[in-house]
Amino acid sequence: MSCSCTHEQAKLQENILKKINNHPCYSQNAHQHYARIHVAIAPACNIQCNYCNRKYDCSNESRPGVTSCRLTPQEAVKKVLYVGGSVKQLSVVGIAGPGDALANPKQTFETFALLQKYAPDIKLCLSTNGLNIEKYIDEILKYNIEHITVTLNSVDESGKMGAKIYPWVYYEGKRYKGEEAARVLLRQQLRGIELLVKNDILVKVNSVLIPDVNEEELLRVSKKVKEMGVFIFNIMPLISKPEHGTRFGLDGVKSADHRLFMKVQEACETGVKLMRHCRQCRADAVGLLGEDRSDEFFKKEFADKSFEELQAHYNINKRRETHEKIEKWRDVLRAANERALRAEAQKYELSSTGETKLIAVTSASNGLINDHFGSAKEFLVYEAGDKAIKFIMSRRVETSYCKGPAGCGTYVIDEIKKVLSDCDILLTQKIGECPRKELDSIKIICDEDYANEPIEISVLKAVRKHFSFEKLQAC
Ligand code: SF4
Ligand code: SF4
Repeated sequence: MSCSCTHEQAKLQENILKKINNHPCYSQNAHQHYARIHVAIAPACNIQCNYCNRKYDCSNESRPGVTSCRLTPQEAVKKVLYVGGSVKQLSVVGIAGPGDALANPKQTFETFALLQKYAPDIKLCLSTNGLNIEKYIDEILKYNIEHITVTLNSVDESGKMGAKIYPWVYYEGKRYKGEEAARVLLRQQLRGIELLVKNDILVKVNSVLIPDVNEEELLRVSKKVKEMGVFIFNIMPLISKPEHGTRFGLDGVKSADHRLFMKVQEACETGVKLMRHCRQCRADAVGLLGEDRSDEFFKKEFADKSFEELQAHYNINKRRETHEKIEKWRDVLRAANERALRAEAQKYELSSTGETKLIAVTSASNGLINDHFGSAKEFLVYEAGDKAIKFIMSRRVETSYCKGPAGCGTYVIDEIKKVLSDCDILLTQKIGECPRKELDSIKIICDEDYANEPIEISVLKAVRKHFSFEKLQAC
C-alpha cells in the first residue's frame, strides 16, 4: 500500500515537473532560458479593480500604465508563429488582457483552438480574475490549458476587505456593488480554484500587495491557497501613480516598495511555493522575462502572411533542436550550481550564524553573470549565507547607467543606488571606476571575478569570499 502511494506520488511529481520544466513563470530556473509571449486579444472585463484603468492593460498580470496593441485571434496566432520562428526559446503563450481572458471567451478559445492546430508544441496559459472559471471549465479542459493564473487579493468572507478593492462585479447579467460584489467574486474565485486543482491544472495565484489595504490579509491568502493545493503564489507589489488614472492612484495610495514587498514575502513563507521572479510584464510582452522585445515585432510583418507561410517560418523541428540544446546547457548549469540554491530555506538554513547578506547580480540570459553594469536595467537579488543561497526578487530601474552612444557622457546612478541600497555585494561582468566608487560610497562591494560564470554557485562563493560568518558569530 505505502509502496504504491510512493509510486503514485513520484508519478505525480514527474508529471508536474514535465509541465513546469520549460515554463518561465512556473519554474524560476526555466526563466533564464525560455521565453513567453502575451497576446492582447481580450478587451472586456467583468469587474472593476481600484488599481486598474481600462484605458490600459489588466493590471492583475501586467504592468499598469502600458497600452498594448490589440489583436484578433487570427492576428494573435500569426504573431505567435512569427515570433516563435525568430525567438526559438519561446515556450509559452499567455492571454493576460488587456481585459479578462474569461470575460472574452469567444476570442480566448478561438485563439487557443488555432494555436493547438498551428503551434502544437507551445504551452497555453491564461490569467483571470476568477469570476468565470466555473462557467468555462469544460473549454479550459478541452483546449488542454495546463496553467491558469487567478488573482485573489483577499479571502475575507464578509466582503469588507474586497469592497475596498472592487467597486463592482458583473456576474450572470447582474451588477453587484460593495461588499456583496466582493462576496460574489470571492465565492466564484474559490469555486474556480477548487475546480482547476481537482482537474490537475497548475494554478498560480497572484495577489496585488496594496499598502495599507491588504498587507496583513496576504498572510491569510497564502495559507488559504496552500490549503487548496495551489501550485505557486505570486505577490505583485502595487505600482500606483496618479497619472495612471486609477482609483488608488488618484486617492494617493502608494506603490509597494522593496522593503514592504520583502517583509510581506517573508511573512507569507507558510509552506506555499512563492514565485519570486515575476516581472509584471506588459499584456503584449515578448521574450525572456527580464527583457521586452515587443517593439521588435510589428503587425505589418505578419498580418498579411498566410498561416502556412508562417508555419514554415515557425519550423517546429528547428524549435525542438533549440530546446534540446537548452536542456543540455541546463544540465551543465545544474552540475555547476549543485546544492548552492535552497529555494524556500529559512535564514538558519542558509547561514551558520543566522545572518545573511544580499547579493545583486547582472545577467543577460542563460544563467550566467553576463551583463555589464552599464547596460543593466535589472538586478537579480539573492539572499546568501555561508551554507546556501536563495533567490529573493528582481529589481528594475527605469534607465540603465550607460545610455549608449546617443546618451554618451550622461550617467545617472541615483536610481540604481536607491534600488541596491540594502545590498552588500554586486556581481557583474564589468563595471567602470566611477560607478564602482559611487557604489563603494554606500558600502556595496563590486566584484567582476565571476564574469561569465554560473550565477548561483558564484553568489555562494562571493559571499564566502567577502564575509566571514564565524566572525559574525563571535561578535
Ligand atoms: S480584472 Fe484586470 S482588466 Fe479587469 S478591472 Fe481588474 S485589473 Fe482591470
Ligand atoms: S507577469 Fe509574471 S507571471 Fe506573468 S508572464 Fe510576466 S513574469 Fe510571468
